Amino acid sequence: MTRPRWHRRSDVVVIGTGAAGLAAALAAHRRGSSVTVLSKAGRQERATATHYAQGGIAVVLPDSSDSVDVHVADTVAAGGGLCDPDVVRSIVADGCGAVAELVNGGARFDEAAPGRWALTREGGHSRRRIIHAGGDATGAEVQRALNQAAATLDIRGRHFATAVLRDGGAVAGVLVCNEDGPGIVHAPSVIVATGGLGHLYSATTNPAGSTGDGVALALSAGVPVSDIEFIQFHPTMLFDGHVGGRRPLITEAIRGEGATLVDSQGNSVTAGVHPMGDLAPRDVVAAAVDARLRESGKACVYLDARGIAGFGRRFPTVTATCRAAGIDPTRQPIPVVPGAHYSCGGIVTDVYGGTELPGLFAAGEVARTGMHGANRLASNSLLEGLVVGGRAGKAAAEHARQAGRATIGRPELAPRPALDRGDLQRAMSRYASVAREAAGLHQLADVLATATLRTVTDVAAFEDTALTLTARAVAAAALDRAETRGCHRRFDFPDTDPAQAVSTTVHLGADGEVVTTQPVVTCIS
Ligand SMILES: Cc1cc2nc3c(=O)[nH]c(=O)nc-3n(C[C@H](O)[C@H](O)[C@H](O)COP(=O)(O)OP(=O)(O)OC[C@H]3O[C@@H](n4cnc5c(N)ncnc54)[C@H](O)[C@@H]3O)c2cc1C
Repeated sequence: MTRPRWHRRSDVVVIGTGAAGLAAALAAHRRGSSVTVLSKAGRQERATATHYAQGGIAVVLPDSSDSVDVHVADTVAAGGGLCDPDVVRSIVADGCGAVAELVNGGARFDEAAPGRWALTREGGHSRRRIIHAGGDATGAEVQRALNQAAATLDIRGRHFATAVLRDGGAVAGVLVCNEDGPGIVHAPSVIVATGGLGHLYSATTNPAGSTGDGVALALSAGVPVSDIEFIQFHPTMLFDGHVGGRRPLITEAIRGEGATLVDSQGNSVTAGVHPMGDLAPRDVVAAAVDARLRESGKACVYLDARGIAGFGRRFPTVTATCRAAGIDPTRQPIPVVPGAHYSCGGIVTDVYGGTELPGLFAAGEVARTGMHGANRLASNSLLEGLVVGGRAGKAAAEHARQAGRATIGRPELAPRPALDRGDLQRAMSRYASVAREAAGLHQLADVLATATLRTVTDVAAFEDTALTLTARAVAAAALDRAETRGCHRRFDFPDTDPAQAVSTTVHLGADGEVVTTQPVVTCIS
């Protein structure tokens, strides 16, 4: 990449236009900051994971039999001993306010009766507490409402961030690439809201842009990531013969309404595995499906939803997806496999999105607040993105007000290691999937070590460098964790080791190698 050709200045830069990014941008804008929002996708593209969310948003409504205490307890129980209960409480307690803000911005959720939202259940939840929209099109409604609320903001499509720039010990801006070439947005506050990393794997529920960019941006700026080995595989990604790229999700809310997971013989996949059966937390169900596929040698298991009355009305997105694949879910069990779905870890932040680098904030799937621990509870992600996104926007505006004008030298993005994307995805799918072991993780590290230096000339080249660095972080953290915990399952260490109930942190060493350390301390101040 050549030297910057253009310059802009802003109080706050937000990288990402999903739930977290737009919640942050709106909050910073309301506090009087000038805000520039970047997205590597075009404005009309459905490029956020937010858009594809199906099940809903977990939220404790007032005047219900639910309570913040119970939601916290469910989240912590699912999190494999690594959630920070104070963090969970702080975020869950603000859920209702964040949803109210969305509704004020025009979002509409499904109602059971006029004025009373319909609530569904998903794995690991002991109560019906998930609000949804359009049946199973919650994310599309959330994204629509946020897009509408943010319509007057300065949103720049096809601008991809390639580096967070520092002025000594603080943030100074972002190196960005657009059709005019590289440029700099100078800003004292930067919020990373780049979403997930599902495209580390050959098949994923994530949109094409979920390539671990934010993790790579943070590591390269000297900011650590944590819990990055905990990659959640959703138990029910549609299996329709197409093996690669973004694959459709079959929402867990279908099991919440009574569908069951069975193998090709019609036997339950989760019987005897967990007291909550098919509604056990996701790590448990995905591992049960993976184990059944290994035992049976079959390509998929089945979600039998034939008993659900009014299926097409309640789950229109899934119905249309199945029909497009030639499956009638009201007459046939739906073929499914586990699919890479959600990054429980990410950039280490406090509950206001603050990182250890002054001026750098992160929110949404890219961040690791301590909310999800070793396994995220279903529908807690949009909740976290909205709550922490909003808080990060306020904190970034405040920081920008206090910070002095930053100076940046003449940054150039040096070539970085990148592996061929197909080779990387095959190696990650083979060696760092639902279950791992030391021998495979060493093989993965060997494959990743063959990456060669690549100059970032376009978004695909940058994504390849981001995927490579992120994969190296995942491989190192997964190898270090010699136990089974949450989404991280080890064939060679099948038990949970109480002595390892601490998070692993990854940062970049001076030689550019990833370095792991334990433990991470979560701060909520
Ligand atoms: C199919 C599916 C169903 C789901 N269902 C649910 C659900 O029901 N409930 C729930 O709580 N969660 C659900 N999740 C998870 C949830 O949707 C995501 O975790 C959440 O939406 C992430 O929001 P975000 O704002 O962090 O990132 P995203 O919504 O993914 O947005 C990321 C943004 O960052 C931009 N970006 C990335 N890299 C760069 C870069 N280098 N430069 C510029 N821009 C960049 C992207 O273009 C995009 O605008 C689901 C996820 C999927 C994939």
